[in-house]
Amino acid sequence: MRMTNALIPTLRDVPADAAVPSHQLLLKGGYILRTAAGLYNYLPLGHRVLAKVEAIVREEMDRFGGQEVLMPILQPAELWEESGRWEVYGEELMRIKDRHDRQFCLGPTHEEVITDLVRQTIGSYKALPLRLYQMQNKYRDERRPRFGLMRGREFVMKDLYSFDLDEAGLDAAYEDMYQAYTNVFNRCGLTFRPVLADAGQIGGGYTHEFNVLAENGESVLAICPDCDYAANQEIAEVKASPVTYPADEAALEKVHTPDAKTIDAVAAFLQVDEKQCAKTMMFEADGDLICVLTLGNDEVNEVKIQKIHPCDQLVLADQATIRTWLGADPGSLGPVGMPEDIPIYADQALKGGQGLVVGANENDYHYTHVNLDRDAKVAAYGDLRMVVEGDACPACGAQLTFTRGIEVGQIFKLGTKYSEAMGATVLDENGKARPLIMGCYGIGVSRTVAAAVEQHHDDRGIIWPKSLAPYQVHLIAVNMKDETLAAIAEKTYKALTDAGLEVLFDDRKERAGVKFNDADLIGIPIQLIIGKGTVENGEIEWKDRRTGEKQMVQPAALIQAVK
Ligand code: ATP
Ligand code: MG
Ligand code: MG
Ligand code: MG
Repeated sequence: MRMTNALIPTLRDVPADAAVPSHQLLLKGGYILRTAAGLYNYLPLGHRVLAKVEAIVREEMDRFGGQEVLMPILQPAELWEESGRWEVYGEELMRIKDRHDRQFCLGPTHEEVITDLVRQTIGSYKALPLRLYQMQNKYRDERRPRFGLMRGREFVMKDLYSFDLDEAGLDAAYEDMYQAYTNVFNRCGLTFRPVLADAGQIGGGYTHEFNVLAENGESVLAICPDCDYAANQEIAEVKASPVTYPADEAALEKVHTPDAKTIDAVAAFLQVDEKQCAKTMMFEADGDLICVLTLGNDEVNEVKIQKIHPCDQLVLADQATIRTWLGADPGSLGPVGMPEDIPIYADQALKGGQGLVVGANENDYHYTHVNLDRDAKVAAYGDLRMVVEGDACPACGAQLTFTRGIEVGQIFKLGTKYSEAMGATVLDENGKARPLIMGCYGIGVSRTVAAAVEQHHDDRGIIWPKSLAPYQVHLIAVNMKDETLAAIAEKTYKALTDAGLEVLFDDRKERAGVKFNDADLIGIPIQLIIGKGTVENGEIEWKDRRTGEKQMVQPAALIQAVK
């Protein structure tokens, strides 16, 4: 592909709402384009990466006996009423009506449709085991779509469903999918961890999540340093562990509990009942002043925190940022969005200059019950030395450690939940009708693209794992105005493409610096540079995007080396 013909709208700046590297770099590199909140276009480069992930997923599903189908996105309410989920799925389900006033939803997942498909097509145990999958857009009305491809309202998922006659069959399917997922994420060049998880909305029993380890992940994983045990924090029960926050005693002594006047002022400012503002604490840590406002019930937190910043994480920012969120005139507010006439805050804030707004329901809650999913992140931002005394590992007793991950896949043993509710049975060897035993297995294909960027980037841009790169090589002609150089570049481009390689050819008449910057941003792992040296002695410069290392190669050796 010639860059003179390609649609790669790279950006100099990224929108302020792009908070994580994957979101920023995919926008900046011209991979994706936003249409509305949680809805993205995959531009040509983004589409190529998505297709690479899809191809890997398909190969691994097929390897383990999956057969690909394509089910309707639009699903009738009747099926969801049969399973009982129309009532319970809640606000994430995108519900719509047709012109005859019949109810439908846009599929967030396909257990109902596939159970219906199978009950219509098979009647005997002889058709088992059966593994069907699809690669398709899913729709979820996420409360806060964010982080670009990471949490969309429309996203691409691979969902496979297994059908067996007995538990042993389900166990085998589960093990196969565990292996298939391991293969997929290995082949995508990702560092990941399968962890035990909570069954949640889908229902059913045993389940693992596959998490790509990354700082910006929304999941917190409890990992045993001594054995294989790893679990999502939800089931590792660390929420209730007592912790010291902040860690050192000296910092703890500096906690200020505000007086009644302060509480009144805060309540008035936030327009809440003062009882809901019962605890407002401040403490210092390493010279930073941290203010914790604890508000009332969840609803109040929601409204107020949203009002301050459209984000459900704890919010930590410098004063200027908080003022921007509040649309306030600098000077009219105290350090953390509080009235200025609270001297203690105003004074001390000058020293550290950081503030933090927290929502909680109980006094001292964040003090004694750290929710790692949220507070650890804040502690990290604030450079607090938070010590988490995690639970003992249920397998070996060692103390669990914690890390963050991005959930890129999940596998479930469903059992007969859907087959019983929807009457999906087969006749066994004795002619007796038995409900199918099911499993379901999802991979967030588009989220995997974002997760790969979270794990593989530097301050210059993306660094794609070889298997996901939109092109194998980025061929850069340093100066297309130099006819000799341009001719060599053209010849090289032809030789590489003729050899079947995927080549992005920067044939633009741009300055070399612009080209190098774009190449680093786009992140193709191999850059081949046709420069002065090539004109003089025929050698081509090979730059490794990850290490920055350069070497000169002979054109004849090039194709072999790329492959
Ligand atoms: P999350 O906990 O992040 O909300 P989930 O547990 O609700 O995800 P599943 O129902 O397990 O998601 O769906 C299978 C996979 O689809 C997930 O593991 C994830 O990779 C992906 N996924 C789920 N929701 C989204 C979304 N809003 N945007 C992109 N990918 C998603
Ligand atoms: Mg979800
Ligand atoms: Mg989840
Ligand atoms: Mg899940």
